[in-house]
Amino acid sequence: MTTSSLLPLLVILISCAPKRTTTADVTPADSLKPVPPAVNEAIQHEFPGALPYATAIDSILARLARAGISSEDILWGQSTCVDDITNTKNKIVHPEIKGPFIFGGLAGLPFTGITGTVAFAHHVPHGGTAVLFLGPHIGYSTDDGWGKIHRHGQDHASTCCGALHAALDKLRQHTIHLATPSEEDYQEQTIEQLALAHQDEILSAKEPLVQFTRIVHSEAEKRMTYYASKVKSRDFAYGVVLVGVIINTDSAFNDYLWIDHFAIIDIENERWLNDLQDMKAETSSH
Ligand SMILES: [Zn+2]
Repeated sequence: MTTSSLLPLLVILISCAPKRTTTADVTPADSLKPVPPAVNEAIQHEFPGALPYATAIDSILARLARAGISSEDILWGQSTCVDDITNTKNKIVHPEIKGPFIFGGLAGLPFTGITGTVAFAHHVPHGGTAVLFLGPHIGYSTDDGWGKIHRHGQDHASTCCGALHAALDKLRQHTIHLATPSEEDYQEQTIEQLALAHQDEILSAKEPLVQFTRIVHSEAEKRMTYYASKVKSRDFAYGVVLVGVIINTDSAFNDYLWIDHFAIIDIENERWLNDLQDMKAETSSH
């Protein structure tokens, strides 16, 4: 699988979003408030077009529905951080979707590797759709800005993503050295090596943690693209690649999702379904 032909999703269409078929009357997302305007402004400045998480998921499912993909036939695989906040605030809002199959370790890098990706591919319904969602995360706290959030039941802000925050601290202190990650802290040390490889880019950025998060999201896509290329047996109809960043906010507020790449591939015909013309046609018709 290659993502070289993927195009930035400039506008996510929300007007055609399908009605959620939740089994509960109230989902976690429904109980969250809109972020204050200043928070939205800060998020949009760094991640233009980011949408409240549930709205973004609705819009993605609407896009898939227009391509003939039913959410009933989706197996959702995601490479997101192990941080509980990922699932606490953004539980799957469409329970008819199967999954998630978790690829992510710390920071959302797909540490399950080729074996995890092949296993996931074997679990997709026959004729169904495999969704690969790659989404590292970063916090934005109303009081503390980028890299922090107030979590439920706590009276202070904590780091988010903590794994990236810790690696960035070490990068600033020049205590990361070129080395092979050790077994005792393999994931964090892998992240540290990634930080070291991009240190100039990260440390010269106005918002170093934002830049580091973008680098991790690109790295996650690169790794997952390679792992997916190793999947030989694809007994499903469509593959969907969804790459972005989750922006976590304080506990009372909606999280956001910024989508960088979104593509659908017709597996049998090895054909990408969405191209620039598709996107232009859709955006101009809404
Ligand atoms: Zn994290």
